[in-house]
Amino acid sequence: MPRPLTTNDQGKRALERLRKIKPFVQASLTLTKKRCGNPRCRCAQEGPLHEVALLTWKEENRTRTLYVPMQLRPEVERWVQEGKLLKRLVAEVSQAQREFLTSKKKSRKSNKG
Ligand SMILES: [Zn+2]
Repeated sequence: MPRPLTTNDQGKRALERLRKIKPFVQASLTLTKKRCGNPRCRCAQEGPLHEVALLTWKEENRTRTLYVPMQLRPEVERWVQEGKLLKRLVAEVSQAQREFLTSKKKSRKSNKG
């Protein structure tokens, strides 16, 4: 017996994509320039400064940051993109379920009337 329909087409599509979600992080990747702190490095005097990648996110209303090593930047960028996709899909499924509820309410009304 087929399972009763508990979502609509939009919900089905979003759920299918959700099942294929890859590692993600809900944060943003920012590039900034910094002095490394070594007093003998040329950045301490004239520069150029070092380009640094930071992962930033909010935790209990505080902005947290984490240093991202150069060789991991492309990978972490993928996690960030996947995190954005996840957020979008969560919103899509939520919307689909609300619409599903609304359509049930309507069809019940029209059946009675
Ligand atoms: Zn330096």
